[in-house]
Amino acid sequence: MTFEDLASKREAGRHEARLRELNQRTVDALDRVDGDVGEAVRLMCECSRDACEEMLELPRPVFERIRESTTRYVVVPGHVLHEIEDRVDDGDGWVVVRKRGEAARGAIEEASS
Ligand SMILES: [Zn+2]
Repeated sequence: MTFEDLASKREAGRHEARLRELNQRTVDALDRVDGDVGEAVRLMCECSRDACEEMLELPRPVFERIRESTTRYVVVPGHVLHEIEDRVDDGDGWVVVRKRGEAARGAIEEASS
């Protein structure tokens, strides 16, 4: 996947922000049902590929840490798009990335809309 212009990078950031919101709602809903979702949360990969439907399991403390930042996302290994993001952390079956530049701006826009 390549990005031809700044607008598509920004759109990628917005796309990931929407996925992230969906994941957050899933975890919130589980919290309400069980009071506790356990030590790991099951999430959709938050990468920028439109057709990606991969799932991953993330330790709860890592999930909470990512949620403190608007530009950090979790993806499955191999789904890091180096053109718009940097790897900042990883573990068994997951990679945390931080958006850069235009993609970061798109993510922030979407998160605050
Ligand atoms: Zn993916």
